[in-house]
Amino acid sequence: MNNFSNSFSRRNFLAGASSLGALYAASRFALPLPALAAPLIDDPRIAPQPIADKGFASIRKIGNGLYATIADRSKGLQARCNGGFLIGRDAAIMLEGFQTTLGSSFQLETLRSVTQIPIRAAINTHWHFDHTLGNSVYGGAGIPVWAHADVPARIAAYYPKWQAQDLNTYLAPWQKRVADAKSDSQREHAKSDIEGLSGMFVPVSQTVLALPNHLLDPAKMPMEIDLGGLTVVVEHYIGHTDTDLIFRVPDQNIIYTGDLLTGGQYPVNINGYPTKWRETVAKFATFDKNTLFVPGHGQIMGQEGVAEMRSCFDDVAEQAEKSYKAGVPVEDAAERYVVPEKFKNYRMFSWGFTITRTYEQFYAEWSGKPVKILNYS
Ligand SMILES: [Zn+2]
Repeated sequence: MNNFSNSFSRRNFLAGASSLGALYAASRFALPLPALAAPLIDDPRIAPQPIADKGFASIRKIGNGLYATIADRSKGLQARCNGGFLIGRDAAIMLEGFQTTLGSSFQLETLRSVTQIPIRAAINTHWHFDHTLGNSVYGGAGIPVWAHADVPARIAAYYPKWQAQDLNTYLAPWQKRVADAKSDSQREHAKSDIEGLSGMFVPVSQTVLALPNHLLDPAKMPMEIDLGGLTVVVEHYIGHTDTDLIFRVPDQNIIYTGDLLTGGQYPVNINGYPTKWRETVAKFATFDKNTLFVPGHGQIMGQEGVAEMRSCFDDVAEQAEKSYKAGVPVEDAAERYVVPEKFKNYRMFSWGFTITRTYEQFYAEWSGKPVKILNYS
């Protein structure tokens, strides 16, 4: 866990802000990427040095023919998500399109510095902007872009619409929530939603979209990709979105999970299915104890990282359940969620899209009402 107590800039910042606003703002600080967790420090699969490092992301070997691209958002959002590439005897695949073409170019160039082998595909783990906006680099290089069959439709349903809008129009209903806030805490939470939404809208508005052109049917999964001496198994789980794919290399106990698994942040539930998501992460916990996970965001992790994410999700669910049973209306309950000490340095995409949306979905489920999904615009 990171400790900012010596940070000069934060001290100054705190001195000038209201205590509540400061508390919330501190939780959104771009924390430096944490070091590998203790159980992984001596893991012989993980190379101690990266083969390439741009600051905003670095790429290191994590297995035989396997590389992880790890983003460090404290140094820039060009990549924003993690990714990687997998190289067999006959072909390679790459994972993720990142938030910008700088992220995808970095990964492609680094792969090309390792091998000139044919690249069979660049694969998006799900449809979100920070995993797909750099896809055009792959298209321009003649590399097919693969994804879950619903990814193009999800992208097409949202991002072109935003591109036809301006930021102020898009944010107007959310600005109104700030203006109408009944308490300081509600106002700070509403402001955090504006920050989160702007952080999606702006990169989307600056990008020429490139949709996946090779669609993977979830009904045909698990699906094997044979790269020659390296077999990758693709599986579909519902959780963070309804298009999530994971990539397992069973021979080496290594898994790339996309955002079904993340480190150092509250589960981002913009388009999620929290109950199914918790079941999916619980399933990860049953995988071999020496499994190495490349999460969608955060540091490479082992089962200790899976356990930590589960405990964060459990905390949200437990506090929501207490309020539900006490008859607290959902809007008030979500405002009252208390970030426990052990997650105080966890990043929050925004309050509304981590806490409130998750509470709303749990409440709906517990009371037998339909659970709203894709409803953030
Ligand atoms: Zn995502």
